[in-house]
Amino acid sequence: MTLSTNGPNSDLIYKGTTVTIEIDPHAGFCFGVDRAVHLAESLLQKDSQAYCVGDIVHNQKEMDRLSQLGLTFVNHQELENQTSKKVLFRAHGEPPQSYQLANQKQHQLTDATCPVVVKLQQRVKKAWETMINLNGQVIIFGKRNHAEVLGLVGQTQNQAVVIENMNDLDAIDFSRPIEVFSQTTSSLTDYKLFCERITSKAQSTLKINDTICRQVSSREPWLKAFVITVEVMIFVGGTKSSNAKFLHGVCKSHNPDSFLVSGVDDIQMEWFAGKTRVGISGATSTPLWQLQEVAQWLHQNLNEQIKN
Ligand code: SF4
Repeated sequence: MTLSTNGPNSDLIYKGTTVTIEIDPHAGFCFGVDRAVHLAESLLQKDSQAYCVGDIVHNQKEMDRLSQLGLTFVNHQELENQTSKKVLFRAHGEPPQSYQLANQKQHQLTDATCPVVVKLQQRVKKAWETMINLNGQVIIFGKRNHAEVLGLVGQTQNQAVVIENMNDLDAIDFSRPIEVFSQTTSSLTDYKLFCERITSKAQSTLKINDTICRQVSSREPWLKAFVITVEVMIFVGGTKSSNAKFLHGVCKSHNPDSFLVSGVDDIQMEWFAGKTRVGISGATSTPLWQLQEVAQWLHQNLNEQIKN
């Protein structure tokens, strides 16, 4: 069988049944993460050692691969303890203080912040400058401790109000002007519900910005269309990836035989008994090479079962 990412492959015989393994054509890194990984690789081609602040991607296998190439993952405190190093800022972005620190410590900075996030940071900063004069508030809909959100809040001198869910609504003063942004990877459905809710409560001016990245939100309808074409879905994602949990949930709601795995070690062969069509997809943090590895492994092991 030839493995391909672009469509159905040759058939694979499994327990006397014809089995097809197909990798979701829309799977793989999003543009921003792909760019950050390429920037890291080219940095390591010139120098054998570089430092990345935080996880470059929520995928341990990809982090291990980059570690072997010479990338060391550090936190902000460790960055502060070093001087004159090659430093990479990942796709999620950083608050202004991180740039000041890198400058102060004379690090040579490669900024891999996704251009979409850079633009969002600029918009949040501008909104904050406007809101100061109006006694208003900047609201960020997203995960409080997510790196991207910390980078956005940093544009507002840490004054933006972060809303994770409807339970946080009391943190908003609805009598004052409000401008709202979303973390790029938030759920479109949740953000719409949140916006409807605050629209009904706002007593002053309210400006809502749609800042969800379509590289992520488009995955949901594409995945729905793909998962119903297969009998078993193997969804590959890192245990720290919220995107993996979310997209696996999407798979599960349309195909109960959807399984979240971080690699081939988590796969149980009984999932495939009597099945003829297997799909493989992954989070926006799962590299294509890892999906191909899983497809190769399944191809080999399902074949071995038949021989036995
Ligand atoms: S999800 Fe979108 S905004 Fe975030 S890193 Fe990927 S491409 Fe950039």
